[in-house]
Amino acid sequence: MIVNFLGTGTSQGIPIIGSDHPVCLSSDSKDKRLRVSIWIRWDDNSFVIDCGPDFRQQMLRANCKKVDAILFTHEHSDHTAGIDDIRPFNFKMGEMPFYAHKRVLDNIKMRFDYIFKTEDKYPGSPSVLPIEVNNDAPFMIGDKKIIPIDALHGNLQVFGYRIDDFAYLTDIKTIEKKEIAKLQDLKVLVVNALREEYHFSHFSLQDALDFIALVKPEKAYLTHISHLMGFHEEVQKKLPENVFLAYDNLEITL
Ligand SMILES: [Zn+2]
Repeated sequence: MIVNFLGTGTSQGIPIIGSDHPVCLSSDSKDKRLRVSIWIRWDDNSFVIDCGPDFRQQMLRANCKKVDAILFTHEHSDHTAGIDDIRPFNFKMGEMPFYAHKRVLDNIKMRFDYIFKTEDKYPGSPSVLPIEVNNDAPFMIGDKKIIPIDALHGNLQVFGYRIDDFAYLTDIKTIEKKEIAKLQDLKVLVVNALREEYHFSHFSLQDALDFIALVKPEKAYLTHISHLMGFHEEVQKKLPENVFLAYDNLEITL
């Protein structure tokens, strides 16, 4: 299984439009972060988690030719605003399955109402097959079981997903013990870490490190990173030896 980090930035991305912050002005490519998303593939299977405003650019940059499905963590725009750009995949492969919580599917149906019109639908607009994800109801993509992990982003429910010994959790702030129990014996855990300072709805760096110490994966990668975290190279030096700041285009094989 190959995991490609399509984007590792928080909601505004890095650089931020018009910002003179030193991290936004950095010439290190690892300090340039599109909105958070990952691409997972094995054998003939290929899916992405979330579809933010940089989806088109991410698909072109990664030379991704096939997406079988999109799994959503939650409905915030940095995770959903790129939905109109699934059309090239529709034209090649037909309807795109969207796996998400019912609340998220309802939100997408409201915001992208033209996609779900049953009459007078504009020809060539996206084509989506909504599939409801329920916690404690794993589902299959290809031959692999996907286990939803329930967590909270402030007061908002979000889903993370476990596939074999890999798990991806973003935009979490609190998570119950019974959900943490689903994260045993991981080779790789990806989890969000916004910045050093406290945030009400995202893990800070310390929150993420505490969580990693609890879950004990072999390796952990941090994502959904703000410019306020600092320069990639400097932050990486301060992390425990099995914890890495993810960066755009990073590809790991499990
Ligand atoms: Zn987000």
